[in-house]
Parts: sequence; structure tokens; C-alpha cells
Amino acid sequence: MSDGSLKKFSIRMAYSELHDGGDVVRWSKLIWFSQNIPKHAFLLWLAIQCKLPTQDKIRRWGNYDLMVCLLCYSDLDSHDHLFFNCSYTSKFWAKVMHKLKMDNSNTDWEGVVGAFVDSYNGSSVGSITRRLCLAASVYLVWQERNNRLFKDERRSVDDFFKCFCDTIKMRLASLKMKWSKAVCDTEKIWDIKLNVISG
Ligand SMILES: [Zn+2]
Repeated sequence: MSDGSLKKFSIRMAYSELHDGGDVVRWSKLIWFSQNIPKHAFLLWLAIQCKLPTQDKIRRWGNYDLMVCLLCYSDLDSHDHLFFNCSYTSKFWAKVMHKLKMDNSNTDWEGVVGAFVDSYNGSSVGSITRRLCLAASVYLVWQERNNRLFKDERRSVDDFFKCFCDTIKMRLASLKMKWSKAVCDTEKIWDIKLNVISG
């Protein structure tokens, strides 16, 4: 953190660090990098600040009955529940973490995002893929929730995960990369041909 001490990650703390001129670089690299998908990055940025209008937020504006989560129908629609805690998103997220070969023991928003913040966030293909996956997951979960709410459209976890994989593959395939073993591994894991430049 900005005072050099190690503290347990928390969104609120990170946000206040950011606005106090704290550890900006560490945070911004998770979200803002040249290979990102801008609309995904922007939504992740809002989500990290807990600015998405889930029902727990809307309720503060008036005394409404809380809406049930439209992904699992077994809990209330809230920011803490929706990402990574809901049974629907948990199943999806387990597939994402398996694909990334990452530890899936974090089951809440702060734990998951904290693990990504604490990972290497440089220019390697693995790092780029990891960050693309986090932002795409948050974006697509929010989109799925809104499609169910406003359009009455729903996808199974498997269809949803396929859409996620296609999104990541399309982005990775659009990038130019120098050859490395990690690039070959990424081609195998995602079953794609990457745009490898020589030299
Ligand atoms: Zn749910």
C-alpha cells in the first residue's frame, strides 16, 4: 500500500488509496492496459468501486422490496452475491479459473479481485489473458443479469462460458505477439492460432 505496509486487500481501501493518490500504478495495470477491451475495462472499473446498480444499491434510493437474483433465484440481487458468490456465476467462474490454471479457493469479490491485483500484471501473454478474463467475466455476468432483467433472455452456464471463450479468443487473435513458449501454450489452451510476429 502507499505507506509501504502489507494489509489485507479490500475494495473500499483500494478505492480510498486510489483517491488519496496511493497505489495507482498497481491498480491501473489490472484494468487499463493497451490490449484490454475498453467497454470491459470500464465496467470492471465501475464494479471495483461498487458502482453497479444492483438492488442493494437501488434500495438506498427508496424503500423497495429487494429483487431475487435472476441468475440463481435463490438469493437476493446484490453486488456481493452476483459476482463469484451466486451458484450460476460460481459454476462459470470455476471453469474460467480452470482454464487459467488459477486457484479457485476465493469465493468472494474481494478475494478474487485481490488475487488478480496481487498477480504479475505486466506484458506477458499469460498476464494479458488473465486480465482479459477477469474484465470479460465481470462484464458478461453483468450483461447476463441485465438480459434476464430487461429482455427475458437467459443462457445456460455452458452457453455462457462458450460466449466468454469466444470473446477472449477473438481478442487474443487480434493481438500481435512475439513467439514464446507461453504463446504456444496459450494457443493450445484456447485452441486458437495467434498472430505471431518474428523477431
Ligand atoms: Zn444468484
